Parts: sequence; C-alpha cells; structure tokens
Amino acid sequence: MRACIDIGGTKVSVSLNDAARPLELLATRHEPTAHSGPPEAVALQCIRMVDEACAELRVDPAVVQAVGVAAPGPFVMRGDCIELATPNICGGLPGSGRQLPNDWRTAPIEAPLRRRFTRVRVENDAVAALEAERLWGALQGVEHCAYVTWSTGVGCGLCVGGKVLRGKNGNAGHLGHAFVSDNDQVVCGCGNVGDLEALVGGNSLERRLGEPAAALFARAAQGDAKALAMVDELCRVMGRALYDITAILDLQRISLGGPVFLMNQALLLPRLSTELHSHLPSMTEGCELVPAGLGRRTGDFGALALVG
Ligand SMILES: [Zn+2]
Repeated sequence: MRACIDIGGTKVSVSLNDAARPLELLATRHEPTAHSGPPEAVALQCIRMVDEACAELRVDPAVVQAVGVAAPGPFVMRGDCIELATPNICGGLPGSGRQLPNDWRTAPIEAPLRRRFTRVRVENDAVAALEAERLWGALQGVEHCAYVTWSTGVGCGLCVGGKVLRGKNGNAGHLGHAFVSDNDQVVCGCGNVGDLEALVGGNSLERRLGEPAAALFARAAQGDAKALAMVDELCRVMGRALYDITAILDLQRISLGGPVFLMNQALLLPRLSTELHSHLPSMTEGCELVPAGLGRRTGDFGALALVG
C-alpha cells in the first residue's frame, strides 16, 4: 500500500493505492487545505488523512511507507527537503496581498512526511502529471516531451532525453510565469505583470472578462465573431509559449490538459497547433500537440505516478 497526496491551494486530496492494482485509487478523501496553525499544518493534515484512509480500509497505517505528493509551486529547499512557498497557501510571503489567516513564509512538507514515511517524493503538480502521462497517457515512449495544463493557472512539466527536468529547487517548468507578450494590463498571482498565466489562466480570464471563461468559449463555439477574436488572441499567446519550450528543448510531443483546454479542445487545439507551427518549421515540424491521454484524470494520477 502506498499513499497519494494532491495538495492544492484550496483542497487536499488523499488516496491509497494497492501496488498490485495500478490506477485504482482507494479511500479517496478531500478536505479544504489547512490555512491556520503552525507552518507544518498542511503536512500534519496530510498525515492525518492518510491515517483516516487506512482506518477506512482497515489497514494498519504502519504498512503505508511510500508516499507521492503533487503540490503547487514554487518550492524552496531547506536542507534537502522541499517546502512550499505557494502564494495561496502561505500568507506571510512578501507582497502576497492575500487575506490568509497565517503568517507562513513557507509550509514544510517533505521533512514532516519523512518523519512518518520511509519513501517520500514531492514534485510540482504539473511534473507529477507529466510522469502520469509518461507512464499511462499520451507521452508513453516519448523521450522529449512536455505536459502543459491550462487551468485556473498554467503549469508545465518537461522531459528531455527521457529525463524529467527538476531544476535547482524542483521548480523547472514554471511556464505560467514566463513572459510571451508585452501586454502589461494584467497582474498574475505571483506579482508579475503580463506573464502567461496573467493573460490566459482561467482565474485571470474571469477577472479580465467579467464573466466565467466558459461563457466566452460557449459564444465562440456558436460562431460569435468577438468571442472568436478573443480565443484567437488567447491561443496566440499560449501557442507562443508552446513554441518557446519546443524551440528551447527540441520537443517531439506536448500533451495538453487542464479544464480550460479539455473543455474547449475543439476550439483551442487547431489554433494552438497553427501558432506553434507558424514559426521555424525546421524545429516545429517534428513536434505534435495532443490532448492528455488521461484526460481529466491526469491530475488524479500524478501523485500515484510519483510512487509508481
Ligand atoms: Zn505569474
């Protein structure tokens, strides 16, 4: 038995998995992410939820010694252990400007889990999803690839030569905070003005449009010219980001997931592909964009892929 933990800014999900039955998540439970108490509150919440899942399955908690954790970045390292410096979890980050009932500058995750479990792997949630796509989804057998999620934000995991890129603090692939346009009208949750996530992330889109992003896509799907022009603009910006990672890493395939993409695939995929392939054909001709093979479940299997 191993534990799969998915930490988000608003919710924590915990499941158990029996190694003999891959892709089966057991005793899954969700709770709002702990936002008060000591900085270790999130890690302690995860450990308690694993114990509760064990109780539900009547499994001795001591048999669960491996855990995979998918968590939002950015990460910082203390010693050789990952701590979260995530703006919507840590209220004490300089300039966070958020109304969170804590003054945490970081939330230690890996160190508390290492006191409880013998095998712990913590990765950025998009990196975890990339691992899931490589094991069971659209990136199986592809050595040079990326997973990009277009959701409330934009996340990315990168793999070159069969090796998943981590970076000095496990933050490789923070594509959402790259600059691909000189639009300076919108501020990202990270504080950047006009980065990719500020321009196309679902949360930011709702603020820009003054309506749910789904309403824009519904009008575009019905052929509304103004809505289609906006979708074209979004795809130009996102498509440039996909071109950038392709040019930098010489990728073969990019798997696209996240609710904004998956729910509007028919509109978005051809436009993104046109933008990607409109630059430097010698680099982009060999790169294909595909929908995530695991679809809407890509995120669910991320933490499992880390202990798989
Ligand atoms: Zn940003």
